[in-house]
Amino acid sequence: MSRLNLVSRLARPCLRVSSARLIPSGQTVHARFFSTAKRLLTSLPDTHIFRAIRDHDPSSLAVLHSLSGRSFTYGNLTADVLRAKEDLEQKVGKMKGNLSGERVAFMAENSYDYVVLLLAIFGCDAIALPLSPSFPTGELQYILDNSEAKVLLATEKYADKAQGVLQAGLQHDPLFDIRRKLVVGASGSEAVPLEKPKGSSELPAGGMMLYTSGTTNRPKGVFIPESALTAQATSLLKAWEYSPQDRLLHLLPLHHIHGVVNAIITPLFAGSSIEFMYPFNTDRVWNRLAAPFHPHTEPNSPEKSKITFLTAVPTVYNRLRSSFPKLPQEIQQAAQKGISPENLRLNISGSAALPTPTKAAWQTLSKGNVLLERFGMTEVGMALSCGLDFADRVDGSVGWPLPQVEARLVDTETNQVIPLGEETDANGRERVGEIQLRGPTIFREYFGNEKATRESFVDGGDGGAHWFCTGDVATRRVVQGAGKGTSGDWARGPMYFIQGRKSVDIIKTGGEKVSALEVERELLSLPQISEAAVVGLPSEQWGSKVAAVVVLHPDAHTTGRNGKAWGPMDMRRALNDRLAGYKIPQEMKVLDAIPRNAMGKVNKKALVKQVFDV
Ligand code: AMP
Repeated sequence: MSRLNLVSRLARPCLRVSSARLIPSGQTVHARFFSTAKRLLTSLPDTHIFRAIRDHDPSSLAVLHSLSGRSFTYGNLTADVLRAKEDLEQKVGKMKGNLSGERVAFMAENSYDYVVLLLAIFGCDAIALPLSPSFPTGELQYILDNSEAKVLLATEKYADKAQGVLQAGLQHDPLFDIRRKLVVGASGSEAVPLEKPKGSSELPAGGMMLYTSGTTNRPKGVFIPESALTAQATSLLKAWEYSPQDRLLHLLPLHHIHGVVNAIITPLFAGSSIEFMYPFNTDRVWNRLAAPFHPHTEPNSPEKSKITFLTAVPTVYNRLRSSFPKLPQEIQQAAQKGISPENLRLNISGSAALPTPTKAAWQTLSKGNVLLERFGMTEVGMALSCGLDFADRVDGSVGWPLPQVEARLVDTETNQVIPLGEETDANGRERVGEIQLRGPTIFREYFGNEKATRESFVDGGDGGAHWFCTGDVATRRVVQGAGKGTSGDWARGPMYFIQGRKSVDIIKTGGEKVSALEVERELLSLPQISEAAVVGLPSEQWGSKVAAVVVLHPDAHTTGRNGKAWGPMDMRRALNDRLAGYKIPQEMKVLDAIPRNAMGKVNKKALVKQVFDV
């Protein structure tokens, strides 16, 4: 099939108008009126997200872009989504038929355009597949082929990149459309009718597809149907109480569950405002957090509104913390106000383990704000979370199963389910088990990979749904003063403590099991260490041995014995009274930086190869 390169003819440069609404230059008011009226004859599907968006106050802010100052209301959003959806259906309809259940890949910057495209694809009852523009061409080709995407959309910024991907030759050839400026604001205040999704069953066929990071095999396409996205969002709404008063500062990549579900879809459900500020830059973030409390900020500046909601990965909090001392005094003072519990109502950390020193430093800096840690993954959205009550944000814990999520621990030794109340063995040792999950928030399948899907679920033998095996292991513990239900009924009983991934973070050494995350936590609490990754290395004597890759604080280069650089012996001595001997790393390598992906995660298999050459 020939490749099509459709450049939207509606596309024109947009004019900024004072109300922050955009209209295409050259379009007359009459033309606009008639085209809007005509468009409203068609409609968006009657799904939860569109119902929620339609019911928000159309004049309230939906999306802002910090740098350009562009802002868009829920009214703008509804109208623009409708228009983009029709535009897409029209082009595709003529050439390729209905989009229901088809993968529509798109490459867009972190902006209003991304949100419009995402919703327009949902509006077509299609499966939105956000692509990371930072991925190499080969990776993007693999994803397009593997997902059998029917359409590839790109904003102008990524047109060349998208074209490059297509030119390199794909087995599967999607329709290609550059959205030069897809954002064309209509009045947006009219009610938009919602229609039942098309298709033989009445259930929507659409949803989202995200690719796993593929540390062990090639990345897998995780299909999250519309019903699971809705369940994930409603679960978070209940636990974290997003509201129309919330302004969320968005610092995350948008090809990942965290950035999309927690920081776009759920806020849209709630009618919150999303302010994009990507790529992450410490000074810009500090200035933004400080702005509402800084005397030089213009009274009518959009930055006068305080940020109330921040969701990020541990490395973001870490980098903010280490850049803070370099800020000018008056920004420091204003920023501290900005992140204090009275103003920043919720600060969340997740996607990787939150080191206790990072959490403690943030609490000091913010004069009492406690980071809320949660655990999630692409296949399940968010699964476990600490609670809104500060007493329910316990160091090292990821809390309880979120609303609608059913969780269990399956003993990694005996393969038996660990019943509630039997968290320790006969010797009083905590039992370690794999986290297994089920419920409406769980993904449906790895696309086109029935074997992987089958292998990742187990039958619970109770006639209920099968359990998804996360591959993460944890212990459970009752914590004094926490889990009393003050954060909601879901946040009761013993709390979960993540030990790491079964495949890489549980190191079997001399018959003992060591959690890499536990050792990392202790290493990070030493003043000489700023980053740590603990791995297992093959050992003839022990089966595996514990090794550490660390980044030292600049002054640690002279704080070892006899004024030498701090080294493995110093590390072992420092950990002696903190960890059992078998848990203390036998080797330590120092790097300038530990390689991490966009979400701050370390690929430990690659790290071992790179650093230890095994
Ligand atoms: P992804 O699917 O890329 O979001 O990665 C999910 C994985 O990140 C999980 O399987 C965990 O191994 C890890 N992860 C997510 N949240 C946490 C957390 N709070 N603590 C430790 N590991 C986490």
